[in-house]
Amino acid sequence: MKDSNFLKEKNARSLWHPMAHPADSQANPPTIVTGADGVRITDVDGHEVVDGVGGLWNVNLGFSCQPIKDAIATQLDQLPYYSTFRGTTNDKVIELSEMLCDFFAPDGLTRAFYTSGGSDSVETALRLARQYHKIRGDQGRTKFLSLKKGYHGTHMGGASVNGNANFRTQYEPLLPGCFHIPAPYTYRNPFNESDPEKLAQLCLQALEDEISFQGAGTIAAFIMEPILGAGGVIPPHETFMPGVREICSKHGILLIADEVITAFGRTGGWSGSRYWGVQPDFMCTAKAITNGYFPFGAVMIADHVVDTFEKDTTGKAAIGHGYTYSGHPVGAAAAIACLEETQRLKVNENAAARGAELYQGLQEIGAANDIVGDVRGGHGLMCALELVSDTATKAPIDKQTIGTIQEIAYQNGAMVRVSGPNIILSPPLVLTAKDVTTIVDALKAGFAAA
Ligand code: PLP
Repeated sequence: MKDSNFLKEKNARSLWHPMAHPADSQANPPTIVTGADGVRITDVDGHEVVDGVGGLWNVNLGFSCQPIKDAIATQLDQLPYYSTFRGTTNDKVIELSEMLCDFFAPDGLTRAFYTSGGSDSVETALRLARQYHKIRGDQGRTKFLSLKKGYHGTHMGGASVNGNANFRTQYEPLLPGCFHIPAPYTYRNPFNESDPEKLAQLCLQALEDEISFQGAGTIAAFIMEPILGAGGVIPPHETFMPGVREICSKHGILLIADEVITAFGRTGGWSGSRYWGVQPDFMCTAKAITNGYFPFGAVMIADHVVDTFEKDTTGKAAIGHGYTYSGHPVGAAAAIACLEETQRLKVNENAAARGAELYQGLQEIGAANDIVGDVRGGHGLMCALELVSDTATKAPIDKQTIGTIQEIAYQNGAMVRVSGPNIILSPPLVLTAKDVTTIVDALKAGFAAA
């Protein structure tokens, strides 16, 4: 066994972690994960726990998906890299594109543009949305609207449409022309409305108001997650996303569905947009497209946007955007194997069934613990507990208490994620009912100790 203290010291001396204060790893050494099997991870000290986080919302099929590992190894042997910039392509990326268009994307999304991850996918969609309007001669449509609490990655465009100050303030000035409307977040919203359907209508009205304030002709696109993920798992009422679609269509605004988390089964549907019965104009994917085994993403594009680009004769539609790793053959091979397994195992069905069990377990925890202000879930394997120090004032819980719950849960067999006052759960979609019980029991132990 490796000396964990020695490794932790070296970690603090040699790297900075995303989404953490650089000095934090000295005071709070991170868990050093050294192995994984199925839905379990093992740390350097030999503890084995169920991964309630699913890597980072991406290891949908667990850590032992042999067909993906084999596909990566075979592809590395056959063609480890070639670019898809103008003039070349590869067999794997062609096959993958057909699979995505034919099965996983909502109807009418008929082209794929490849990226190296979620932030790249968002950046791609934002850029192509602006370009779409310029090709059509609608030069004034440059602004973006999005939801408060939304998370769209960390590139400058994505950060500009993010709806959480933590990801913005220290990096300003961001892209001008980005505006946010309230999220359909029943527990906290400016309307003081706790009924999900009424709140959805109020948020839709806020969208209409913002469009009228900005001027519809100045707005390129509205970007949203079908279910807000990193912002604390906030599912909207079923009328919300269809309502957004209607408003965007009415005003000529493109709808970008950021499905970096919600695509490929996590919601219980094949995508979040399909789950809500909506056809977006762009769909951003990444994460589970390769089960997290290879950094990769794809933006799916609706046929009317495709037409605008492909029928252009002015040259404006030439895409001045792309990544060295767009359409990477190893990523494409990993994605094909991953999506075949995703489909074959019907992981969306397991996500729905296990998600219902997990949500019920969390509701029991909520009922038994005053510090649980809100329990969110009920749409596949995306759940959260929002903790407060006082249910009347809804003052957020302190870091130490939520940290203790996380630590004790870990000692009792489950890795859970803490983000602000939220405990977030996004386990692999292949977990069993017994694994769900392990997570819930571990959390119960955490709450008992808090
Ligand atoms: N969009 C959403 C909805 C996400 O949840 C994330 C990451 O969590 C991103 C974009 C950014 O993806 P990445 O971290 O792969 O760049």
